[in-house]
Parts: sequence; structure tokens; C-alpha cells
Amino acid sequence: MASLLAKQGQEMLVSWDNRKTRTKIKVKSCVIGGKGLLLIAGPCAVESEDVMKETAFKVRGSGALMLRGGAFKPRTSPYSFQGLGKKGLEILAKVGEEMNMPVVTEVMDSEDIELVADYADILQVGARNMHNFALLRKLGNCARPVILKRGLSATIEEWLLAAEYILAAGNPQVILCERGIRSAEPWTRNTLDLSAVAMARELSHLPVLVDPSHGTGVRSLVTPMAKAAIAAGADGLMVEVHPHPEKALSDGEQSLTPKGFSAMMKELEPVARAVGRRIR
Ligand code: PEP
Ligand code: MN
Repeated sequence: MASLLAKQGQEMLVSWDNRKTRTKIKVKSCVIGGKGLLLIAGPCAVESEDVMKETAFKVRGSGALMLRGGAFKPRTSPYSFQGLGKKGLEILAKVGEEMNMPVVTEVMDSEDIELVADYADILQVGARNMHNFALLRKLGNCARPVILKRGLSATIEEWLLAAEYILAAGNPQVILCERGIRSAEPWTRNTLDLSAVAMARELSHLPVLVDPSHGTGVRSLVTPMAKAAIAAGADGLMVEVHPHPEKALSDGEQSLTPKGFSAMMKELEPVARAVGRRIR
């Protein structure tokens, strides 16, 4: 493949050839990139302490290890709910602590890195910011692991080079996340590219997660694609769960109920076992 990665393969920190062993990232008692799969669950946005608590309690009971929830939301329309900001971070961290679950949340602006890192165990770079090189560089100086979502129209190489920005700036703790790319298909919100999971794991030593919620935009497709993701080699999943999806302030149509999440976890077990992984 005539590519930047292939040309500079030996020098690239992100490349498999550079390490020839899978990177494992430890966050409190969780290990990302090992035999155990990392299950991150929670609502799209932090809406209230009650919603966070109910969701965390239920998904933890079904085997989720980490809690998600956006406090700074990248919304297509400036008039849509933008997240609770600092208040959202406070709620997320409080509930995470009470439930003994590390928390993941998005950082949208390089000026907010320190603030977000004060509350979150893992910082997420959203799809829309994958090409924000100033943000990526600054995350290189952050002591927290970073989940780097694939951009809406990014090639696998562009995604890995975005990870290289963070690694080259000094932060070795990067987790890739495939969340679907734009295609001509109108029935799904995005086209979940599972070949990118296998390819990224071939080209890089970094752990790779899959987000079947944004990857499909359709609640009924989340479980089938979660199973397929694990079969394809994903190191874990990030799934949106809301106790009342019809009332969710964002992404309700792709959110599982806690009951749906529990059912999904049961379906994932034999798939994980079949590929030599475990769910918890
Ligand atoms: C999210 O995970 O909340 C999110 C906004 O995802 P993405 O950046 O993949 O759209
Ligand atoms: Mn969402």
C-alpha cells in the first residue's frame, strides 16, 4: 500500500512494526486491550444526576465496566442541547465514584483539557474533532488516556495519523474507536466499518473499540453490530444506554434501554468466548 504509514512504518509510533506487541492501557481496575473486553455504557449526554445514577447502576449490574456521558456535546445544530458543561462533568464524576466505575467524556476544545481531565478518567476526541490537530497535540501532554474516534469521512490512515499526533506529542495511551463513516446509505446514520477494526489492529498496536450506537443510529442494529464487532476483533464497545430513550435529550433513537443492554450482554458472551475473549 502506497501510504504515509507504509513509507514511514518503522518510525511511526502508532504502527504495529514499532512495537510488535499489543498496547494495554490500565485505568483503575480496568485493562483495555487485554483478553477482557472493555464495555463502556451510558447516555449520549449527561442530563441529570438521576438519569446518570439509574443508568450506571443498571449497566454496571449487567457487566459494563465504565460509564460514559457527554458534558460538552458536538451537535449538528447550534440550537440543540449542547450539554451541561462543568455541571455535567461534576455529575458524571460523582456518579462514577459512587458506582466505582471510571468515566469517559468528550473534550471538544483544547482550552477545556485540564478541566475535563480533572473529572474524567478517559478523554474522548469526537469524530468531528479527529482532524483538530491543535487539540490532538495538546492531548499529547495530558496524563489521561484518550479515546480517538474515527472522523466521519476519515480514511483508516488519516485516523491512525491522528493517533500519531497524540503519541508523538508524548501521550502513549491512545485507544482507537470506530464509530461509522458517512456513506450513501440513508437507512443507517453511518456505515459501521468493521473492516477498519481488523485493519487498524493489523496496522497498529493500539486497542480498538467499536461504537455501534453512532455506527448505526438505529437501536435494533446495536446488538447485531456489537456481536459482529467482537467477532471482528474489537477490544471493547462503547454503547449508548438511557433509562427512557424516548425522553433522551440526544440520540434516544440509537440508545438501548438498560434491559436491552442486559440482553445484549448475554448475546455477546458466546461470541466473545468463540474468539478467545471474555466480557468481564
Ligand atoms: C459521542 O460519543 O457522544 C459522540 C458525539 O460520538 P461521535 O463523535 O462519534 O459522533
Ligand atoms: Mn450520541
